Amino acid sequence: MFNGNGKTNRSTPRHAASRRSALKLGGLAIAGTALGAGLPALAEATDGADYTVRQSYDTIVVGAGLAGLIAARELRAKGRRVLVLEARDRIGGRTWTDTFNDYQIERGGAWVDPKQPHIWREISRYGLKIVADAGPERVLMPTTSGFAEYDPVTAYTRQGELFTPFFEGSQEYFPKPYAPFTREDLITPLDRLSLRDRLDQLAYAPEDEIRMTSTTGLYGAPTSRGSLLELAQWWALSGWNYEGFAGINTYRMEQGTAALANAILADGKPDLKLKSPVASVTQQNGQVKVVTRAGAAYWAAEVVMAVPVNVWKKITFSPVLPQAYRDATTQGYGVPRQKKVWLDLATPTDRFIAEAPEGHPFVIMGRMNENAPVVAFTIDTTLNLASHAAVEAAVRKILPSATLRSYTVCDWQADEFSLGGPAYRQPNQLTKLHRAINQPFGKVKFCGDDIALGWAGYMDGAIESGLRVAGSPTLSPSPAIAPSTRGLAVPNADPKIYRSMVGL
Ligand SMILES: Cc1cc2nc3c(=O)[nH]c(=O)nc-3n(C[C@H](O)[C@H](O)[C@H](O)COP(=O)(O)OP(=O)(O)OC[C@H]3O[C@@H](n4cnc5c(N)ncnc54)[C@H](O)[C@@H]3O)c2cc1C
Repeated sequence: MFNGNGKTNRSTPRHAASRRSALKLGGLAIAGTALGAGLPALAEATDGADYTVRQSYDTIVVGAGLAGLIAARELRAKGRRVLVLEARDRIGGRTWTDTFNDYQIERGGAWVDPKQPHIWREISRYGLKIVADAGPERVLMPTTSGFAEYDPVTAYTRQGELFTPFFEGSQEYFPKPYAPFTREDLITPLDRLSLRDRLDQLAYAPEDEIRMTSTTGLYGAPTSRGSLLELAQWWALSGWNYEGFAGINTYRMEQGTAALANAILADGKPDLKLKSPVASVTQQNGQVKVVTRAGAAYWAAEVVMAVPVNVWKKITFSPVLPQAYRDATTQGYGVPRQKKVWLDLATPTDRFIAEAPEGHPFVIMGRMNENAPVVAFTIDTTLNLASHAAVEAAVRKILPSATLRSYTVCDWQADEFSLGGPAYRQPNQLTKLHRAINQPFGKVKFCGDDIALGWAGYMDGAIESGLRVAGSPTLSPSPAIAPSTRGLAVPNADPKIYRSMVGL
């Protein structure tokens, strides 16, 4: 994370274990080696903010993001003894409620929606209050000769007209959005298409295509990397229409995502060790041994890996993970390069959204509420985010009269415990890898938003995946995500269109 003064703050500073905790962890490791499998649980003293920690468990959950916290809660409800090992000094993972100039901000995941039934159920379970962003008063859209200003209805009606043909056929190839393999025959040939391929197929006029690359560039990071089927699945999950698709980023939890993470933790009450990055996971003698970088060893009958796919490659698995898991972590699931930036602009002061074509330093920025800082996203690796002048110049490429007072940046790619942003699959990953990496490997199971069957890349996906790995039922899609016949609904696909998409 960069602050406006150019200093870098990692989301998680490395913490050297205190001498006291190092001695204690060392003692546990020795006891674990001596006693081996099937250890009785030994009560241990609490360590700072951590809960009481034993040395052997029914399940060890690695990672205290939303997926890991949900898995831990569900397993505790089934009477299991559960330890959560978390690398950072906080829970929440790629959600992180923080403040910027005394304003509550989210550095990672922020928006939720009733069309996302798993997160919505958690929010109502804990009685968390939802607020809706006020939204923009004006929208700046790119043209071939600069930016043009529109009222929001005009701007997004046109976006709907442009995006609708992009997803033509998705009602046939994703008829059940939470069961993406229902028409495997149709999605297999489509899975090789990138977002760029689909733009090329449709041969949009230049002034239309640049209006779409703000979206495709941000998620695809860049457009040529991202899979068509990931965005098409979100479209399907949104009710196959632009109204649902564009409305996803409207609601937030008033007390922030941290309130949800804390509520899940307090409900499940697993044992929790913060500042405990896991270095190795070894399956032997019918048990799993988990060793942290500090050398503390814990044993369990099973382990749930609730860390991002991108970080699997940083953990030593023994026996080694099968090829599909290694391919997934090498290729990457979490989007590279994406950074979320909060800007304190002295001018302009109104509520706006500005979308820019791919290649601009900021592909989207906006102020959603009165007196709020502006939130912006960048995938530009050449933008010097440590330089106030460079950031202000980047803002002025869209808003020439903007004045930047201060800013703060969260770089999820640079963070060693995420190595990327939210999940966004690349071509061929859905059909070649996704099912395989959802399988347990012996006594090691996997979960996380990256491998969700529904809303991969969203908090809802993290929760769905955490429920599944714990053997708890997931929600079937609520009526709210049934195909919509309102607004900009897509007509049923013409088979000719499908054939032209897959090159038949
Ligand atoms: C910039 C950004 C914007 C987003 N916007 C939205 C949004 O508006 N709406 C939405 O729904 N979603 C959004 N998301 C996605 C959402 O935040 C994620 O889908 C979700 O938080 C992922 O949860 P998870 O538990 O699967 O993974 P994570 O939250 O990444 O949790 C994994 C945990 O594992 C820990 N870990 C990693 N390595 C180790 C190790 N070796 N040992 C121990 N622990 C380890 C990490 O510290 C982390 O706590 C956004 C994400 C980002 C980054």
